[in-house]
Amino acid sequence: MSDKFVEAITPREENFSRWYTDVVIKAQLADYAPIRGCIVVRPPGFAIWEAIQSGLDARFKETGVQNAYFPLLIPESIFTREAEHIEGFAPEVPWVTHAGEEELQERLAIRPSSETIIGTMFSRWIQSYRDLPMLVNQWCSVLRWEKATHPFLRTTEFLWQEGHTCHETEAEARERTIQMLRIYREFMEEVLAIPVLAGIKSDREKFAGAVETYTVEAMMQDGRALQAGTSHYLGDGFARVLDIKFLGRESELEYVHQTSWGVSHRLIGALIMVHGDDRGLVLPPRVAPNQAVIVPIYRDDTRDRVLGAANDLRESLREEGLRIHLDDREEHTPGWKFNEWEMRGVPIRIELGPRDLDSDQVMLVRRDTGAKEPVSRSKLSARLEELLEEIQAGLFQRALDYRADNTYTAESVEDIRTIMERNRGFVEAGWCGDDACEASIKEETGTTIRCIPFEDLGEPGVCPACGKPGKHRVVFARAY
Ligand SMILES: [Zn+2]
Repeated sequence: MSDKFVEAITPREENFSRWYTDVVIKAQLADYAPIRGCIVVRPPGFAIWEAIQSGLDARFKETGVQNAYFPLLIPESIFTREAEHIEGFAPEVPWVTHAGEEELQERLAIRPSSETIIGTMFSRWIQSYRDLPMLVNQWCSVLRWEKATHPFLRTTEFLWQEGHTCHETEAEARERTIQMLRIYREFMEEVLAIPVLAGIKSDREKFAGAVETYTVEAMMQDGRALQAGTSHYLGDGFARVLDIKFLGRESELEYVHQTSWGVSHRLIGALIMVHGDDRGLVLPPRVAPNQAVIVPIYRDDTRDRVLGAANDLRESLREEGLRIHLDDREEHTPGWKFNEWEMRGVPIRIELGPRDLDSDQVMLVRRDTGAKEPVSRSKLSARLEELLEEIQAGLFQRALDYRADNTYTAESVEDIRTIMERNRGFVEAGWCGDDACEASIKEETGTTIRCIPFEDLGEPGVCPACGKPGKHRVVFARAY
């Protein structure tokens, strides 16, 4: 029975994409909705989203950001004001045209992002430099009509947060852009145990309407990149078309300088693809809704004694501040439960049977390595805390090593193509800065410039497309 259970997940080596959807569906993180392109985020998946949300939300608020909520619908006259913005989103915007049988006088866009509607409100709320900075975030869902569905990674409707800020000066707005990217990076590395490459996007890859887009990019276990979060410096482009002006310190009317920044529930996809293995999900302890699960092992004659002790154990560990679940379901065997909680990625399993009770101990089993250790009851909570930290650090290190092992260098398009065929991964190479070279590399290798990293990668080297000296050292990869 237990073997059959695990067989249900396709091994990563066999088909990474199928492995991914198997984990999503079988760990009940999400299910396909009866609407093309949409998923239902199920309770175990939503619990991870809530953990991400609360962690980020607290970090945003520490920097003075406040939450608000803006409408789902954006009138066409407002949505189309910023030319690049509408051009970038036009192919994937759904429109509301009717209310009942009645045709609306003006079409309403379902938001793919809220710069225009939020900016319109900012123009009413901001009069003077004293109203600045204005720092607003909203947690919501947005719609972008997608042709193919990839649960959490690419869906028509998705959960995200979008932060929008207005500033008196360009310098202050630029500082905020980088500050939010730094928060994303720290959160992803410290909480999600996902190492990310931070840097700036090429013009081709930047957000529609932004002056500059900054990004954090993570490597998945199939070598592909996942854009995990972005922060945009918008300049005063939206302010000019939406008329967001303020009376400055010298009593002159000026336009605000803006930023916007967001992460979405694709971070759940990143967690799966960075840490998961052939048995399923592996969750870093800091984001795991349950850090440990107690599985009681008993027969009819020991049932009451073991369950009683398991309940006491759960209560005392919860009082220590640990997130503990007790699986006391009668209809499944312990072996079945072991498999199920492994698949769901719970960092530690605590086994408790009559013999453990006799010797006043429990058995701990790590999800990441499978290592087992008996721990005496008196040392349990201290050992759990220690072990959770070890697992957290171990997962980060493993992902960092994986990225290092799968990062290559290239000097020609042929090099990049060979790397993509044989190994995949990240490719460091020069880039002359020419849009045409970037386009031809994409055409021939399927890779895009993920970013020009902040981190110094050394001498730029030659551009793989034209052979001229590179202006920047950049990272190419295929991306989700
Ligand atoms: Zn070139």
